[in-house]
Amino acid sequence: MSDLTVFAEALIATVARAFYDDEAICIIDVLIRDKFLRDDDMAPRLNMPAKKLRSTLQFLQDEHLVNSETVDDLSQGGSQSTKFWYIDYNRAVHTIRLRLHLLRKELEAAESRSRSSSFYLCPGHDLRRCNGRYTEEEAQQMIDINTGVFLCQECYLNYQNDPNGPKADTYTLRLVDNADDLRLAVDNIRRVNVQLSGKMIGSEQLRAGVYDLLQKVRGKGKAPITSNLPSENFALGRGSKRLAGTGRTAGIKALGGGVLGKPPGSGFQSDLTFLKNAMGDGLHFCIEKGGSARANLLSQRHSNPQRKKRKLLDAAATRVGTTVTLLEQNEVVERGKRQKQQQAELDRQEREKQLQENGGNDSNGKDDDNKKKKKNDKNDNGGADDNSNSKKPGMPGLTGMEWLNNNISRGGLDEEMEKLRKQDIEQEELLLAAAAEEEDEMLNDQSKIIVLSDYIDPAEQAPSLWDEITRKVTFQSFYKKEIGRQAKILHLSEHNETAGGNFSSPPKGLLFGW
Ligand SMILES: [Zn+2]
Repeated sequence: MSDLTVFAEALIATVARAFYDDEAICIIDVLIRDKFLRDDDMAPRLNMPAKKLRSTLQFLQDEHLVNSETVDDLSQGGSQSTKFWYIDYNRAVHTIRLRLHLLRKELEAAESRSRSSSFYLCPGHDLRRCNGRYTEEEAQQMIDINTGVFLCQECYLNYQNDPNGPKADTYTLRLVDNADDLRLAVDNIRRVNVQLSGKMIGSEQLRAGVYDLLQKVRGKGKAPITSNLPSENFALGRGSKRLAGTGRTAGIKALGGGVLGKPPGSGFQSDLTFLKNAMGDGLHFCIEKGGSARANLLSQRHSNPQRKKRKLLDAAATRVGTTVTLLEQNEVVERGKRQKQQQAELDRQEREKQLQENGGNDSNGKDDDNKKKKKNDKNDNGGADDNSNSKKPGMPGLTGMEWLNNNISRGGLDEEMEKLRKQDIEQEELLLAAAAEEEDEMLNDQSKIIVLSDYIDPAEQAPSLWDEITRKVTFQSFYKKEIGRQAKILHLSEHNETAGGNFSSPPKGLLFGW
């Protein structure tokens, strides 16, 4: 029974919000909260003029939402016949159901009326030449055999034997439908459906649907909804006793068993995390740096307006900054990885060089697979084009015959092989020297600013690459520029502002001077 009462309360509150003005909503709400109230108690609670209160109560009584009962209230300091206002839940719910039913019926009747009121007119009707107005059924009785269109019967009978008569299309019937009326009726139905159904914002219920609540209030097989008579509540010791929030469902609501399933007092606004503009686009907010400090300053009265201005400037200027963004952090990590790879490459080259030096002239009996392969390559290539200066290890030119040739005339080739090997070593040494130079450069740069070729100008864009001093200096210059800009916007004398040099903590002398 109490459950149904909770739904009935929600339904009545929702309907009040959907159809009535603010005073009515307030009265309904206070009656839902306190169950029954003397009208002389209500005016001060609602802070509403007694006249306005009485007229609104009268209106709501006429609407069958609110009722009054005269109760003996001597024990509570009233009179023997005190008038108490209350909401008869049973009656109110049935009233709402009936009126919604009538509303729907009216809307549907309007729709079918506009759908069925189409008719056919003869073009001569507008010119008062003929009386041709036909319903859909009548219009179908005279059809042009050639074109299949409907013709005005009057005109057809007049002109069918007249060789000089007007053409058939001057008395071809045209359909007059109530497109506007129909559109209006359909639109009204749609609006009512939208407005009476629930609304969600994200997972948050903004309002409950009237139809849903009506369905819930039906409560098949359960006891009927209470009439909430003040005398009854009075006898049971339930209700306001002139204290707020002591009504019938106060306990249920306190436990969070309300219709919307959330604890009392938590408005939907509290955790509304996004907004939509008039076009329905989601609006994304981000918090501006220094914004909260500025908002705080603006919301407070400050003893020293000049100092407040200075602080505002300071807060505004902290927006410029040299903080490291997430993107830049990622870039730094990537750069580190690339450097590691380069280092690994250098190490590998170093190792190979050493191996080669250890290997000497011996072309056989090497355990190192890599080495052996390299040697073979060299041997083969040496046989193929031994005069080539630009030959590099691993070049193509490997055929079975050349390998055979190498093995057969081995002695003659040894000299050439040695030469080539020397060339290779020289080349590798050159490469290593170049790499070492590069590395040196890089190490030097690391102490200042690392400039990598695939970045346009990282020093400009990525404060993450700066050291602490660079960052500080840059921030100070940005900050100074921004302070100047802000001061210009606010029409402040820049002389005062820049005198101290540091704005977040103005010099003591200046401060006391004000
Ligand atoms: Zn006609």
